[in-house]
Amino acid sequence: MTYWRVPLDIKKVKIPHGEIYINIEQCKGCGFCVEYCPKDVLEMSSEFNRKGYHYPAVLKQGVCVNCNLCEVLCPDFAIFCLEVEPRSPEPDEVLERKEES
Ligand code: SF4
Ligand code: SF4
Repeated sequence: MTYWRVPLDIKKVKIPHGEIYINIEQCKGCGFCVEYCPKDVLEMSSEFNRKGYHYPAVLKQGVCVNCNLCEVLCPDFAIFCLEVEPRSPEPDEVLERKEES
């Protein structure tokens, strides 16, 4: 469903925001973090680490919501997320989110 109006309280809404850190040499390329990220923040890089595995890279900068799921799922403790300043949603982003549901 598409809504044509932006919520009146949009300026009060804050979206949690995280910054991703990846230890590429510790990664074994299982892809769990990429597969299960709810915001599709990550993708597998075409590059290899020293062990010969593809590792994740950030595909969508600024979209991470600091849910820490990638960190919890990673079997090798190769990725983690740190909370940074929450941000306000863009009007387009609100409409896009409504369209998804
Ligand atoms: S913390 Fe959550 S939103 Fe951010 S990259 Fe990891 S799984 Fe995705
Ligand atoms: S979950 Fe961990 S080991 Fe698997 S691809 Fe992601 S960073 Fe690498």
